[in-house]
Amino acid sequence: MSIEKMHEAEQILKTYYGYDSFRYGQQQIIEQVLAQKDTLGIMPTGGGKSLCYQIPALTLEGVTLVISPLISLMKDQVDALHQLNIAATYLNSTLTREEEEERISLIQTGEYKLVYVAPERLVQPFFQQLLASIPLSLVAIDETHCLSQWGHDFRPSYLGISAWLNNFNQRPPVLALTATATEAVQKDIQNHLDIQNENTVVTGFNRENLTLKVLKGIDKWRYVKQYVQTHKSEAGIIYANTRKEVEQLYHKLQEADIQAAMYHGGLNENERARHQEAFLHDQVSVMVATNAFGMGIDKSNVRYVVHYNMPRTIESYYQEAGRAGRDGEDSECVLLFSPQDIRVQSFLIEQSELTEDRKAQEYEKLQQMTSYIHTEGCLMTYILSYFGDVSKADCGRCSSCVREGEKVDRTKEAQMVFSCIKRMRERFGKMMVAQVLAGSENQKIKQLQLHTLPTYGIMSGYTAKYVAEFIDYLTAEKYIKPTGSQYPTLQLTDLALPVLKGEKQVHQFVALQKEEAEENDE
Ligand code: ADP
Repeated sequence: MSIEKMHEAEQILKTYYGYDSFRYGQQQIIEQVLAQKDTLGIMPTGGGKSLCYQIPALTLEGVTLVISPLISLMKDQVDALHQLNIAATYLNSTLTREEEEERISLIQTGEYKLVYVAPERLVQPFFQQLLASIPLSLVAIDETHCLSQWGHDFRPSYLGISAWLNNFNQRPPVLALTATATEAVQKDIQNHLDIQNENTVVTGFNRENLTLKVLKGIDKWRYVKQYVQTHKSEAGIIYANTRKEVEQLYHKLQEADIQAAMYHGGLNENERARHQEAFLHDQVSVMVATNAFGMGIDKSNVRYVVHYNMPRTIESYYQEAGRAGRDGEDSECVLLFSPQDIRVQSFLIEQSELTEDRKAQEYEKLQQMTSYIHTEGCLMTYILSYFGDVSKADCGRCSSCVREGEKVDRTKEAQMVFSCIKRMRERFGKMMVAQVLAGSENQKIKQLQLHTLPTYGIMSGYTAKYVAEFIDYLTAEKYIKPTGSQYPTLQLTDLALPVLKGEKQVHQFVALQKEEAEENDE
């Protein structure tokens, strides 16, 4: 790849986009693409993935085909390119026949540098012929994790991409992009698209401008209302897990005189577009949405993302939370947790049509998400290590890093929990273990003769609820591993043994601030 080409790419960055320099990762990806290497680029949301194909599209001869999963966003993406004077278009089912025909003839005469399509279109013979008849400079695949069953947004239509690519005598260069970086997804993408490991560019996942917070046991609605009121002039997204909850929040906000937009899969296309536009163009500052909202949305000035419920996986949490602060300015990501969130997610996994193996995997991911809630360590470090990025020091700004309090020796209680789990032969779940330790009178315990165990009632000074929370903490700290799917049983890890033998101590943080931990009175 010639230095001139990279020079040209930098010129385009300045003249078309008005930016001074490439961000970390962008440069390497663009260099590889210009050198015709099939590349996988993994960057966090807001990292600047679009430029990685848009700039090559402008320097290379021919057309760059952009495969994108969301029809509803193609127009916005193309409009944004038009604003920058870049010749781009899209083909999708929203166009009239005349519009489509006109665009196709302009594609044939080389009028566009970028053409956006959904993956479904690649299987249409007419479209395949069209593509075979024009010079394709690059195939950019956005949200590539959609082709992996290990990802959090599998779309069967993505599987057609590799078959389509393999039909070319000479395959055009491919740039696959995603913000999902787990090893399994990465390998899956590499295998499907035949991309070399050495051509995979992973940028760091750290987002220094994000302040992560986890709040447990609070009145969620009261918190949200106050939060939105005190951040009136700022744009923010509130994510809830269900359509019903989104609707409820939307109406409650309206009743509280707060103008908001809403977005979920149950709204018709017009309504969705209307709400999305209102938020994107700052007519309203708050968007209440399910996770259907946000993929590919480029709104750079989102100052906060509040999760009203815990999402199922760290991948989806970080992707959604990462929609805050794309402009690099300080922004907040708050996760409001209640134990109900875990039950809802387990229920959804159970109800899904996934195979047993896949379900087990989803439960494992849910467990990792739950541990994020209960960890006492730095939240950013937790997320980064989930993505295999372990080099970072604590962020110094998340709710774990800044809380005030003191470390208390909990070795004795931890030993009680561990020995009870052992006595119960690692065959029971969290609530049963907690009830045995707290000495509950529950009938089931009597039936199973668990009240005869020597560990029965040894933590009777605490409630079963408290003991269950302590078990959550020990799980987050990896002393205990819940195993199995919907009703996991507790098993001890290698870390628990030295504690049982008295060789290692367990210290738990006890917060002094109490104001954010009011009882949940919903
Ligand atoms: P992603 O697709 O990775 O989520 P985008 O491509 O939408 O992210 O980029 C996020 C924001 O960062 C956009 O507003 C974009 O214009 C901006 N951006 C991208 N590259 C640069 C750069 N080199 N310098 C400054 N801003 C950039």
